[in-house]
Amino acid sequence: MLVVGSGASGLAAALSADRAGASVAIVTKGTLQSCNSAKAQGGIQAAFADDDSPELHAEDVWRSSHETADRRLVEVLTGEAPDAIHWLEELGVEFTRSNGGYRLARCGGASRKRLLQVGDRTGHAITTALRDAVEAATVETFPKSPLLGLDQTGSGWRARCGDETLEAATVVLAAGGRCYREAEERGELSTNHPGATGEVTQIALDLGAEGRDLDALQYHPNGGAWPPNTQGYSIPETTRAYGAVLVNADGEEFTDSLGPRDAVSQAIFDEVEKGKGVTTPDGRPAVYLDTTRIAPADAEISLPYMLRRYRAAGVDPLGEPILTYPVLHYQNGGLVIDTDAESTVEGLYACGEIAGGTHGRNRMMGNSLLECCVFGRRAGRAAAAGARA
Ligand SMILES: Cc1cc2nc3c(=O)[nH]c(=O)nc-3n(C[C@H](O)[C@H](O)[C@H](O)COP(=O)(O)OP(=O)(O)OC[C@H]3O[C@@H](n4cnc5c(N)ncnc54)[C@H](O)[C@@H]3O)c2cc1C
Repeated sequence: MLVVGSGASGLAAALSADRAGASVAIVTKGTLQSCNSAKAQGGIQAAFADDDSPELHAEDVWRSSHETADRRLVEVLTGEAPDAIHWLEELGVEFTRSNGGYRLARCGGASRKRLLQVGDRTGHAITTALRDAVEAATVETFPKSPLLGLDQTGSGWRARCGDETLEAATVVLAAGGRCYREAEERGELSTNHPGATGEVTQIALDLGAEGRDLDALQYHPNGGAWPPNTQGYSIPETTRAYGAVLVNADGEEFTDSLGPRDAVSQAIFDEVEKGKGVTTPDGRPAVYLDTTRIAPADAEISLPYMLRRYRAAGVDPLGEPILTYPVLHYQNGGLVIDTDAESTVEGLYACGEIAGGTHGRNRMMGNSLLECCVFGRRAGRAAAAGARA
């Protein structure tokens, strides 16, 4: 079977399919390391707290999606979250701990503390562990081999990938979203890596696969606005979980800083529109994120990379508020899938950001890495079974 993409979802699918006994190849556009997953900082959600449950987690997803998510997918996502975390631990991911348990933060839209972290390089830790496991398995890898075309054959699929033509009984599409291309076309900043251009979604749609909510793109409320080395950087949402608040030019709080992402982004746009924003030295709109309210001990444990990045440019977020403005970040919608991550085209699976439904029209932070693991594993297992059938 063939996996397209080497982010967290593609790696999870390939590893699970390999363990299910399939002969697996991964093709990817750039290097094996190049993906959005590795850039994820904030964390991954799972209900571990005493006052939490997969049902409460599912309710938060449903509410944050404005009741547009696919409830069957949400139940799988939140129900399998604790198991996915243990699976990652078996692969070597060491989540930050405190007081004998996981260090859990509350993220925007969540009713409980549920976000597990590996410092503020969670995606890097997860993709490194998954890639090490894939490289130790018998998975064949084809870097710099972008999927260019996919055709159905009598026995499955023929894929044109760069200079290679590969035959496979089943195919897992794990090629991520399109926010890099979309931001370029709009002349805006994006947090995404340059490979996030969306052509694989189009290939699937052209084959007749159904899509949903493809117009619903998510702005990360806290893009870096200044200094220049932070433009296009997403300031981790954990800054707000650990006490940072959004304030306008007059120093007034103007929104619930831990509201759902779309609400917080809109509040910033509105505040700037009302003339209550500030302007960066290079003329961009912004508001303040008052990071001075974060306790230094929390920042040292949960935000070390963020601190290094700002301090390298001469700004200390614990000593002064930083400038922020929303940036294009995530494709909420995608290909329609069932609970085995199969698209509406038989033998064609989709997992991760390329798939739709799990988050409806508005994703909560920390549920995308989770989706990659939960549905990546399901896609790998189902595609392996499909390849044997
Ligand atoms: C800066 C940043 C911070 C984030 N923080 C968090 C967080 O804290 N928690 C959270 O849950 N989520 C977070 N997210 C979102 C999350 O990381 C991503 O949505 C998720 O990891 C996507 O995984 P994926 O495997 O679907 O896609 P990706 O990781 O983007 O991987 C897609 C892969 O497909 C390849 N590809 C693309 N086109 C082709 C093609 N034509 N042929 C072959 N291969 C192709 C790419 O090169 C890449 O290897 C963050 C995202 C960003 C950008």
